[in-house]
Amino acid sequence: SFRALFTTKSDDKQIETNLIEMAEDDLMPGDVTIDVEWSTVNYKDGLALSGAPGIIQSYPMIGGIDLAGTVTSSEDARYKPGDKVLINGWALSQTHFGGYAEKARVKSDWLIKVPDTFTTRQTMAIGTAGYTAMLSILALEHNGVTPEKGPVLVTGANGGVGSIAIAVLSNLGFEVIASTGRMDEEAYLKSLGATSIIDRTSLSEPGRPLGKERWAGAVDAVGSHTLVNVLAQTQYRGAVAACGLAQGPDLPATVMPFILRNVTLAGIDSVNAPYAARKTAWDRLAKDLNPEILEHTITEVNLEDVPETAANILKGKIKGRTLVKV
Ligand code: NAP
Repeated sequence: SFRALFTTKSDDKQIETNLIEMAEDDLMPGDVTIDVEWSTVNYKDGLALSGAPGIIQSYPMIGGIDLAGTVTSSEDARYKPGDKVLINGWALSQTHFGGYAEKARVKSDWLIKVPDTFTTRQTMAIGTAGYTAMLSILALEHNGVTPEKGPVLVTGANGGVGSIAIAVLSNLGFEVIASTGRMDEEAYLKSLGATSIIDRTSLSEPGRPLGKERWAGAVDAVGSHTLVNVLAQTQYRGAVAACGLAQGPDLPATVMPFILRNVTLAGIDSVNAPYAARKTAWDRLAKDLNPEILEHTITEVNLEDVPETAANILKGKIKGRTLVKV
């Protein structure tokens, strides 16, 4: 048997997560079985374990949208026992048991081989948050944002997406402006490579349709008024990657930045991104993320600590990336 964090919903709709012993026969169908070594806690994991609608679609569930470990058996010729693999997203923690268990049985189509330059631990320190940060940066590049064009803004700077976005952008030679509600974390943000720090309250209230042009691009993990103000202050022909909703899912905007400044708003989804996009993102992370800087972002916890961390991430109390030792 093996240990798993089991999330259940009672008849009176109470959501509870408990560490239990499970048998391999209780795993869901799949063609590859994995000994899970590491998982992570992302904002979405916080939502899942809180019972927020739209994430866990059937109970009981094992949460954890990310996992990395070693293949123990495979019916797919692309994978063999001993291979180091990872998964970000897909059905995990929605309709299929996820990373918060010592074993996982999954669809081979969801797997990515761990890049040679990374350990399984490092891939989960990156996790969905870091891979989403890379997808966002790829979208900026695709839309012509280069270091010569000007600075790039990162919102939700202390969070998982924000921290990894800062580290990669800085390594690529960008001047990085970090927007945060935690101005006392300046030393941390600068250690990741931020050039300057701004208070997120300067972006979080309703603003004007167009403002001074301040950045060539932005990675936005926050949404709502923040994203609207970010767009309004993006340079002519700049681009903004929208990947999150930490402030809210609303977008109370005007079209002015689009039709007067040719600004591009690029949407980012990590969950169902096709294999080629994932592979590109992971190859670029292997090349463009400094593993020593990645270490600065990590807090390591055990499986039993996950429910508490999951509750704290929703309160904006978690800094950087939380790695779960399974
Ligand atoms: P996280 O670690 O909790 O980071 C979110 C950060 O946003 C916080 O650390 C905080 O940074 C800031 N923040 C929190 N509440 C805020 C508020 N009310 N107003 C403004 N800023 C606020 O979460 P994460 O895992 O990095 O995810 C970040 C966001 O991206 C989430 O909304 C998540 O759902 C989304 N996401 C989407 C995808 C996708 O596929 N599109 C993938 C991954 C994540 P400061 O303290 O520095 O201000």
